[in-house]
Amino acid sequence: MKVLIVEDELDIAANIWDFLERRGHVVDHAVDGRQGLARAVDEIFDIIILDLGLPRLDGLELCRRLRDAGSGVPVLMLTARDTLEDCLSGFEHGADDYMVKPFAMRELEARIRVLHRNGSPLEDSVLGLGELSYSSKSMLAERAGQSFPLTVSQGRILSLLIRESPNVIRHETLLNAVWGEQGGTSAALHSHVCTLRALIDRPFDKPMLQTVHGIGYRLVDPA
Ligand code: CA
Repeated sequence: MKVLIVEDELDIAANIWDFLERRGHVVDHAVDGRQGLARAVDEIFDIIILDLGLPRLDGLELCRRLRDAGSGVPVLMLTARDTLEDCLSGFEHGADDYMVKPFAMRELEARIRVLHRNGSPLEDSVLGLGELSYSSKSMLAERAGQSFPLTVSQGRILSLLIRESPNVIRHETLLNAVWGEQGGTSAALHSHVCTLRALIDRPFDKPMLQTVHGIGYRLVDPA
């Protein structure tokens, strides 16, 4: 994988770099937010490992601008604090996953592999339900003629929900689909679903994404 690390703490960046390079990945590094954004927009990476607290442009803003520029590259965010707000705002700004420092390098690698696999669909499948559709190749969801770029994790969740509609998808199934054996948290899943709902449901009269309390989520065609 070709990996971009955007991290101002040089010892952390060097540790990640050394580890990933020894595991056969091609690694690049940017030391501040502006440089990171420029590299991420101009070059092609398989994954971006993005620190939240960065000089010149913070990680959240970088992520938002990257998504605004139309990039769907998977982003794994590194945070110093394990707070729900950090996790929520990371996902709202377009991150796919996050890890709290300090972390084990093996876990980092396992997570970026899962994100990369999720971001590389084997075929270009377009799934649809009523006025809603999702293309795994363009990573765009469309509802009633409006289109919304999704992150790989959001796309993974929406694909499952469309495929299985109107069945309920259990929390465990979604967690496994997005994070694999690395096991994301329910809070992170909830946050991804909230962001997805804001995109595909909030601008419209009839909601499609339903919460089944204590069990999971389902997608219905309200027409
Ligand atoms: Ca930092």
